[in-house]
Amino acid sequence: MYTYMKGMLYCLYCKKETEHTIVYEGDMIKKIKCDECGTELEIDKEKAKKNYTEDFINRIFTKPQRMTEELQKDLTAFLLSLPIRIVTKPYRVLEEVKEQIDKIRRKDI
Ligand SMILES: [Zn+2]
Repeated sequence: MYTYMKGMLYCLYCKKETEHTIVYEGDMIKKIKCDECGTELEIDKEKAKKNYTEDFINRIFTKPQRMTEELQKDLTAFLLSLPIRIVTKPYRVLEEVKEQIDKIRRKDI
């Protein structure tokens, strides 16, 4: 069963704080989505475990009673520190990024 929570987090794609939907599966975070650009982050818990202590992971990943400012800050810090391979983008965003790269390349030729 999925539950949802809203929070202000820093979006890597928008490059600013935007409203995010945090999706919990049971009591654990499943994914985080930016409401503005639609970028979805799916967090690989196994990979995250290698970089963080169990306490930190539990605090970040477990569904809170309510979204606090402290947790929003922790989540943002966590997202910014993630290796890029954990970050997934929806197809639409990937296409936009590809177009931008193509434009830049064409200018070079
Ligand atoms: Zn965004």
